[in-house]
Amino acid sequence: MTKSEERKIEGQKTLASGYVTLDDLKKAGNIPPDGILEARAVPIIDDIEEIPCTPCRDVCPTGAIIMPSMNDPPKVKWEACTGCTLCVQACPGLAITLVNMSFGRKVLKRNDIALVSIPYEMIPVPKRGDRVRVYDRGHNYLCDGEVYSVIKSVKFGTIVINVLVPKQYALHAKYLEVIKGE
Ligand code: SF4
Repeated sequence: MTKSEERKIEGQKTLASGYVTLDDLKKAGNIPPDGILEARAVPIIDDIEEIPCTPCRDVCPTGAIIMPSMNDPPKVKWEACTGCTLCVQACPGLAITLVNMSFGRKVLKRNDIALVSIPYEMIPVPKRGDRVRVYDRGHNYLCDGEVYSVIKSVKFGTIVINVLVPKQYALHAKYLEVIKGE
């Protein structure tokens, strides 16, 4: 079986579940080893199919996103990522989150908290300190989180919310809902 045929079968499995699961991403090599995950920010790209789409690769200032042809699913050179979030801002499919497992340890002196950068299209846009509900790829509730900061990208017209979540949910976190009235 060719690589292309293998990828098409992966895509069919994904369609069967209705969305890309964390297991799909692990099998496709889109989740880094634990050692890298604990040490640095990494983009998690929910794309395992042959889709002709290259903004993440094109915008990355360090060449961390590898896509030999425009139809190849993106792969990440983990050590080259600086955590700038430009790929999250540039992705038209909102398919990328940036997971920073070491943020709590390095910045907040808390080893149980991670920072996840999530693209956001809803109104109102939350602000620092707001509480949000965090959901997984299947829209299942995971946990509450706290907005640490908000990136408003003038270049791409996108909003990226940096949210603090318990580390065990960081790789699953995909969608946010602002908790109103608090
Ligand atoms: S976060 Fe920045 S450096 Fe890392 S892959 Fe995305 S664009 Fe490249």
